[in-house]
Amino acid sequence: MSEQAKKAAKEPPVYSLIRASRCFNCDGKQEPGSIVKFAPGKDEREVHCRKCSKLDDMEFLKSGNAKVTQLAKKYSQRVIVVMQWSELWKTYERIGLLVESAAIDRIETDLKIKFENRESKQTHQ
Ligand SMILES: [Zn+2]
Repeated sequence: MSEQAKKAAKEPPVYSLIRASRCFNCDGKQEPGSIVKFAPGKDEREVHCRKCSKLDDMEFLKSGNAKVTQLAKKYSQRVIVVMQWSELWKTYERIGLLVESAAIDRIETDLKIKFENRESKQTHQ
């Protein structure tokens, strides 16, 4: 297995919600689009919010730019695949990655680009 494959295989994927839900742990409301972890529960899968899953120091990076994805995997110590349910295909699709904010900073510098709507740069009202 290559170094990269090992790193990518380390952490289980997380999921972007398509419907509002609640965190099983802290009862925090999760809006559609929130990134959560699913844990096997008694009756159904439990939703664990990003904070409870200790993923709030990571940033979402949308799929679609091979160069950006490649650099993200190189720069970020942790890389977690983000999946989302597709009503059309009736299956989970990979929509992006969760990577460290610092990795995104480095990509912006390297490629001289600015990602729009970065989570860490958003002002909360
Ligand atoms: Zn929570």
